[in-house]
Amino acid sequence: MGVKYQENEASTPTLTLPLQGGGELGKLGWPKLKSMVSECTACGLRAGCTQTVFGSGDEQADWLFVGEGPGADEDAQGEPFVGQAGKLLDNMLAAIKLKRDKNVYIGNVVKCRPHDNRAPHADEIASCLPYLQRQIELVQPKLIVALGKTAADALLGRDDTIASMRGKLHDYRGIPLVATYHPAHLLRTPLDKAKVWEDLCMAVATMSATEK
Ligand code: URA
Repeated sequence: MGVKYQENEASTPTLTLPLQGGGELGKLGWPKLKSMVSECTACGLRAGCTQTVFGSGDEQADWLFVGEGPGADEDAQGEPFVGQAGKLLDNMLAAIKLKRDKNVYIGNVVKCRPHDNRAPHADEIASCLPYLQRQIELVQPKLIVALGKTAADALLGRDDTIASMRGKLHDYRGIPLVATYHPAHLLRTPLDKAKVWEDLCMAVATMSATEK
């Protein structure tokens, strides 16, 4: 999966984001951000994973899909959503005529796999979220789809169920955000695919409205 780097870091938008250790991410372009993530030991997750999973896709995409964090397949391959849930995400993208890497960027809230496949803890999310925030600043998507509670909670600063957050349009720093069920949930509960389809239709309608 080709990752195109934007070498001109000076031309990227800036925002100061605090990171553990007092570093600043807000001025970093793609190359430095990527190397910072690969060297990060800000939380305990890095010690238990094989490699960091930065995110991938079109770095100028209109569409940004955000998941929770790498699973075993992603940890092995270094790419987001390459396992069973990833195949379902590809099908979801195809259903709305999208393809990963083509006007789509895919990222995660945490970049390291929790070794026991648990959801990331609040302190791990807090350590890692600034990286995702900077990725969003760099991509400047027109719309964000938060896949699952971890992504929706982290981006919206909430602690709510997906059932209560889906079906309406949210706002992430001026960018419309649609929250829906995580593909891994759909693998366990296929009946919820109809709700995800509704959410994806809302996302498409929202994107169309921004293009007018
Ligand atoms: N689940 C996620 O949330 N992200 C991935 O990259 C893979 C599975």
